[in-house]
Amino acid sequence: MKQTDKHTDRQTGRQTNISIFIPHIGCPHKCSFCDQRTISGTQKPPRAEDISALLEEQAPHLSERGISAEIAFFGGSFTAIPREYMTELLEAASAAVKRFPCYSGIRCSTRPDCISEEVLDILKSYGMTAIELGAQSMSDEVLKANERGHSAEDVRKAAVLIRGSGIELGLQMMTGLYKDTVENCLYTADEFIKLSPKTVRVYPTVILKNTRLGKLFESGEYKSFSFDETVDLCAELLQKFERNDIRVIRLGLHASPDVERDKLGGVYHPALREIVESRIVLREMTERLKALPKGDYTIFTDKRNISRTIGQKRENIRRLFEFGYNIEVKERAGETLRVVPKEEI
Ligand code: SF4
Repeated sequence: MKQTDKHTDRQTGRQTNISIFIPHIGCPHKCSFCDQRTISGTQKPPRAEDISALLEEQAPHLSERGISAEIAFFGGSFTAIPREYMTELLEAASAAVKRFPCYSGIRCSTRPDCISEEVLDILKSYGMTAIELGAQSMSDEVLKANERGHSAEDVRKAAVLIRGSGIELGLQMMTGLYKDTVENCLYTADEFIKLSPKTVRVYPTVILKNTRLGKLFESGEYKSFSFDETVDLCAELLQKFERNDIRVIRLGLHASPDVERDKLGGVYHPALREIVESRIVLREMTERLKALPKGDYTIFTDKRNISRTIGQKRENIRRLFEFGYNIEVKERAGETLRVVPKEEI
């Protein structure tokens, strides 16, 4: 079924989402960056019976592999779609959760101004386990410039309501929007942390055709953050959230032929998270080496960290070489980053 997409989050191991994309339907806005048809790769909203069929078909495959899945309604603004349609979809999902033990819950994404106690009661009655708010920024200036149609205060209010309902809170942010700055993004992260979400998704802006951002980009009025600037920023965001026990369950848009076809600019890389994690390791290595004289060193690290330590296309080794440190990376179980001068080995 075209409306579905399945992925496993790296940090949750055998936990996956069966993502069901609900396109633009129900959304009264046209945010500067959004062309939901491109992002969700679909134009037709799925019917409840298609969802039931898909979940029934997927259940044996998930059970066989011992994978537990959440049924995730992503794409548009789930709580803003016509109420009857929303409850039909929830009915289908909740029936699957009751029938197949491999489905552990239901999650959805929506706008901060489409949350109320009334809607939360409905979601809860169908067993909704997590709601992700597309906050995008906590700067009112950025929200306004990108025609989001809601304020940072709306995000705060919705977050409080969701947490009060007992449903897990997730927050989504973007970087590099029109009129955005690195400082704004770091401020957004700090404001998110105050709202205590369980999870966060970070999406560097991808500029798509058929959007207002696309037009601003083509006219030269707007340019997003560079790739390198975004990697540095995301490294900082990732560390900030992790220090506060908030899981970053996604960094960067999923690889998709539709996005690749319609992309005009911005930051899009299928291995973005790996690159960002590698940048974090580079920072740590730089910090340790700074205290040591320039020269030849061996860095020991365990198997899990080898590729992050070396960096994509040996990026970290190359950068350290430019600073006068000639590094060899070797695998050693139990080590994270042990720096040893070559002559001591
Ligand atoms: S609210 Fe969401 S679905 Fe609606 S235009 Fe904005 S990004 Fe797109």
